[in-house]
Order: sequence, then structure tokens, then C-alpha cells
Amino acid sequence: MSCVLQLYRIQASSSRFSNCGRMSISFLHNKGFINGSWVDAKSGKTFEVKNPATGEVIGLAPDMDVEDTKSAIKAAADAFPAWAKTPAKERGVLLRKWYDLMVSNSDEIAKILTWEAGKPLSESKGEITYGNSFIDWFAEEARRINGEVLQSPVRNREMVLLKQPIGVAALITPWNFPHAMITRKAGAALAAGCTCVIRPAEDTPFTALALVDLADKAGIPKGVINIVTSGRPNAAPIGKELCENPLVAGLSFTGSTEVGKLLYKQCATGIKRVGLELGGNAPFIVFNSADINKAVEGAIASKFRNCGQTCISANRFIIQDGVFDEFVEKLRDRMSKFKLGNGMDCDVNQGPLINAAQVKKVEAIVKDAVDKGAKVLHGGERASNIGELFYVPTLLVDIKPNMACYTEEIFGPIAVCLKFKTEEEAIAISNGTSRGLAGYFYSNDLNQAWRVARNLEVGMIGINEGLISAAEAAFGGVKESGIGREGSSHGIEEYVYIKYLCFGGI
Ligand code: NAD
Repeated sequence: MSCVLQLYRIQASSSRFSNCGRMSISFLHNKGFINGSWVDAKSGKTFEVKNPATGEVIGLAPDMDVEDTKSAIKAAADAFPAWAKTPAKERGVLLRKWYDLMVSNSDEIAKILTWEAGKPLSESKGEITYGNSFIDWFAEEARRINGEVLQSPVRNREMVLLKQPIGVAALITPWNFPHAMITRKAGAALAAGCTCVIRPAEDTPFTALALVDLADKAGIPKGVINIVTSGRPNAAPIGKELCENPLVAGLSFTGSTEVGKLLYKQCATGIKRVGLELGGNAPFIVFNSADINKAVEGAIASKFRNCGQTCISANRFIIQDGVFDEFVEKLRDRMSKFKLGNGMDCDVNQGPLINAAQVKKVEAIVKDAVDKGAKVLHGGERASNIGELFYVPTLLVDIKPNMACYTEEIFGPIAVCLKFKTEEEAIAISNGTSRGLAGYFYSNDLNQAWRVARNLEVGMIGINEGLISAAEAAFGGVKESGIGREGSSHGIEEYVYIKYLCFGGI
């Protein structure tokens, strides 16, 4: 229980946290969870998890490796036949109990999440409401995994399509949404009748372990959910095992396009089912007809949530010439009012970046843009007076296609604004990237809205809206942003296969 004690001590000794209440310690864990038991790494090794706001070590988690992963996969494979045969209604009831426990413990989970991910407490609560909603949704959807009876082309024959769970699902998740990325995958997998092995990000294992604890308390049988934590060096060997072990039927990964491509190749060895939710480069277009105040509010919500570390975050603001100056000025004004700080302080609305690598990446992107002629209208530097990992929200104009901020996913609090004249030009700029996750546009011209929605090469679009995620909606991208969909009724399809039955001689 060392991690629990450390967390408790830090919280108790820091007056900065006092205004957010005391932490319940009942579901903080510093062990992995395999076959219904809390376990250390077989090697006995651990890794440190740090609070990005303060740099303090908040706990130690087991640094598991391939051997631990094999045990977790075996446990999931052993549990699969019984879970797959459990009536969907009963699986739904257990998911619903899990959801109820997550709701009743939301405040405490939010504190764990802010502690390890750094996002403001209000955002952690928002993520938890969103993350919980997937378990609620899939608890209901479990009962609607229906097959089909087909019209036979010949006499004396009946033809039926069954949907069956694929088997053990490997779920690899990132740090930017440590709660919701797990529930969005695990909810669908469990509803479908699959068992799973989760490998959460090394920066944020404690939220994941808390969720698994609540799943256990909800009565989800042993072996159905297993979790393997590790530091970054063991991520690749664990990932390879999850992709190549013959007992694993499919992989669902959320993270960078680079790692996604590697895992996709590794899964090819065993022709595994693959779902990939990868990086984006979202255009955010504002047309002359738009309501600029609403567009600015949408821009703030889309760009700066989680300090810009969101895969569907607006990456390039593409603004029509008639409203460019007004939009930029209003955006700058809103950005200048941000309060940076420790997310545990209740009035903070921008936390730190997750780690030093992310800060360096953001600094390099800003430097590259400035070196190539971009103008800084706000920010452009670290907020070192607050902490090592804080970066002032930054606004750049005079952006050119040869700048990294134009071509790459920024994943930080940097807003870049480009000017365009015609709708065709805006579409060409938007689509001129290998990514295609989300896109946004603001327009009050209905015909234009339909045209632009059809022409943007992305999987999701916010039209006069900056926040688009919901359990009811299909989340996913095109091009190098991924394959497959999460959430909605389509999310379950990733975890079932169709079996065709042909009854002859009837
Ligand atoms: P990342 O790809 O480096 O890491 C994601 C996860 O994969 C982490 O848990 C990491 O430990 C693990 N990992 C790293 N290398 C691995 C390997 N070889 N084998 C197995 N696992 C490995 O990404 P990140 O820096 O953690 O997250 C940022 C990226 O994730 C961004 O590009 C962002 O757009 C993307 N993302 C996408 C979505 C989405 O739904 N499309 C959501 C969140 C984040």
C-alpha cells in the first residue's frame, strides 16, 4: 500500500489541495490486476508516477513485462468461454453496476485523474461524466447485439447470421484521457462478450487501476478484466506480446499514428482484428457568415481542453478574410484571461503539459514557426514561474505550409491562424494533410454547411459546435487517423464477428 500512503501524505501535507477536500483511499492501487487478484510485477520492479503540476512522485506502480502480460492474456482466455456464454442481459446488468459505482465515486476518481494527468479538476469531472457514459451506453447496447435472418435464394434452406464475440481483446490506451479511453473500449468489449487485457499509459496508471477496482466490486468475474502496468521501456515488448500472442483475438489502440502503424504491422502476423484511434490535424474553419462570438467560444473549447492535448483538438484555425481580424482579436482576448496552475486549485482552467517531452515538442513547434516568419500575438514561452511543465497559451499568425504547426499535430496550447478567401481554398487547406480525425466549421449558410460537411476528409465534424464527443456517436477517423469506430452501436462491431449458418434440407 506504499503508493496509497504516499498519495495520502502528499495530499495531507499540501495546503494547495486543501480547498478540494480530502482523498478517499479505498480504490487507489499500486498493483496490477490479473485473474481477479492484485499482483506485483513478477520481477518485483516498479516505476514512478509523477504529478505533472508539481513534479512530485505521487506513487509507484508495478513495472510489468512480457511474462506478466502472458499471465494476463491466459487469465482473459480462460475467462472468455463463460463470459461469452453469459446472457447479454446479465453482462449488461454487471456493466450497469460498474457504471453506478463509477458515478458514486466520481469525485474521488477525478482527484486521482487530476493528480496524475494534470488537467483542471473541472475537466477531470467532465472526462469522468463522459467516460462513465460509455459504460451506461454499452450496458444497454449489450442486449441489442442481434443477428439477421436472410432470404435464401433457393428452396428448402434457411440462412442466418450470428454475431459472436471475437475473444480476448487487448486494449492499449494513452494518458490524455486516462478514464474515457478505457471505458470507451472496455465497455464495448465486455458488452460484446469479450474479455480483455488493458495496458494503460505509464503517466496515468492509477485512474485505470481505480476503474478496474470498481469493476471488480461490481461483480465482473475474475479474468474478464485484467490490467498490466509498466514504464515506457516495457511498453513496446508488452505491445508486441499483445499483438502477437495467439490467444489474443484483437487489439484496440489509442495513441500516436507512429505507434499505431507499428502495432498494425505486428497484428498482421496473426491477422488480428485491429481498431486504431490515432492522431489528428483538425481544421477549424470560420466562414464570413459565422457568428464570431460563438466561433471563438467553440475555438476555446476545442483547442484548449486538456491544455491542447486532445486528438480532436483544433489544430489549424482557417479563417475567411472578412472576419480574420475580428476572430483573431477576440481569441487573443479570451486567451489572455486563462488562469494557469495546479489543476487541484479550483479556479485554474489550464494545467501543465503531461511531461518534459511534450513541453520540448511544443517549444520546437513554436520556434520552427517563428524562425520561418510566424508572428506571436500571445504567449510563445513557458510559464516557468508556475512550474516546469507549464506553457503560456500561444497565438500565432502569418502561418505557412512549410511550418511544423501546419503539417503536424501540435498537441499543446498553441493556436495557429491562417487566412483564406474562397470555400474551395478552405477545403483544400483542410484536406492537405495525411490525417483525418475531426474537423470543425462555423457558417450560417445552410447550403455551404452541407457542401463543406461532405467535402472535408475527416471522420467527425462539428458544425457550429466545438465539443462533439458523446457515447451515442461514432468516434473515429479516416486516412492515417485510424480505422474502426468507438462508441455508438458501431463500437460493438469491433468486438464481434459474423458467423453465417446455412440450414439445408429443410
Ligand atoms: P503514444 O502512441 O506514444 O502512446 C500511447 C500508448 O501507447 C501509451 O500507453 C504508450 O505507453 C503506449 N506505447 C508506446 N509505444 C508502444 C509500443 N511500441 N507498443 C505498445 N504500446 C506502446 O501516444 P501518446 O503520446 O501517449 O498520446 C498522444 C497521441 O495519441 C497523439 O498523437 C494523439 O492524437 C493520440 N490520441 C488519439 C486519440 C484518438 O482517439 N484518436 C485519443 C487520444 C490520443
